[in-house]
Amino acid sequence: MLVSASIKSKARELGFDACGIAPAAAHPELAFFSEWIARGYAGSMDYLARSSDRRADVRNVMASARTVIATATVYNTDRPYSTECADPSRAQIARYAWGDDYHEVIDTRLAMLLAWMREESPEPFDARAYVDTGPVQERVYAQYAGLGWIGKNTCVISPALGSWIVLGEIICSLALAVDAPALEQCGTCTLCLEACPTQAFAAPGVLDSTRCISYLTIEHRGDIPEPLQAGLGSHVYGCDVCQEVCPWNASAPVSADAAWQPRPAWDARALSELRDTAADDLRAALAGSSMRRAKPAGLQRNIAIAVHNGERS
Ligand code: SF4
Ligand code: SF4
Repeated sequence: MLVSASIKSKARELGFDACGIAPAAAHPELAFFSEWIARGYAGSMDYLARSSDRRADVRNVMASARTVIATATVYNTDRPYSTECADPSRAQIARYAWGDDYHEVIDTRLAMLLAWMREESPEPFDARAYVDTGPVQERVYAQYAGLGWIGKNTCVISPALGSWIVLGEIICSLALAVDAPALEQCGTCTLCLEACPTQAFAAPGVLDSTRCISYLTIEHRGDIPEPLQAGLGSHVYGCDVCQEVCPWNASAPVSADAAWQPRPAWDARALSELRDTAADDLRAALAGSSMRRAKPAGLQRNIAIAVHNGERS
């Protein structure tokens, strides 16, 4: 018999730190996405606008969807936050990108979970698994699966795990028992909004990507607008500031999983060394890393800005 409890138990066995189940319904939070696009906050991420209709509801992705099995996996490692020991001469990289490409790691685990479900289920069912790249507002489903609430910093925050988590989900046609949604627990805190180096929050929980270091260093092609360059500091790939300051991460668990440990090629590297590294060598150092998304040219652009920022700090 395939029931929610057995799926969650199997998910834990496969290495997921949390698993919950949300109904595939018209959750009110899903509706804001099209307005967010209309305000221009997605910048040049045209693929988001193109998939806006499908992102409005998972039933637009898979018409038979009845539930979404949402998972969270801790990628945090036993390292101090950069806000505690910032060294302007060393490259800062978002924590999720330190180890192996999370798409591949989580995709493999979701495939194992789905294969097991098909073995256990007495009836055939439709299913699709996604890790970040699918046309799914996965944070909303994670919230309705009870994994955590969407914080003012736009990250899903689990009361037990914090926000250093990668999400992955299986949309399925099974009518599984669903969880209660997670409750909002930011309260009156505004630490993340105040700490953002580039003032990227248009409002609590509303990110203007065109000002966000993660977007600028990863998704944006071409020159980074000059007024925002100083705010990049020594960030060369992504930014964790709004998570580092979050009180819910103060005692967040760490993972000993080899997949998430820092890769030597990018581990607290001196910016001057990276600046002098040839594009082919940068490309080789990106093998198996989610940092491939920025491409060597993008990283060289970011490194040059970070070096310049270090020289004037
Ligand atoms: S990731 Fe960095 S730049 Fe982007 S909103 Fe958070 S603190 Fe601001
Ligand atoms: S820093 Fe405060 S406001 Fe921001 S996400 Fe964390 S708890 Fe919420």
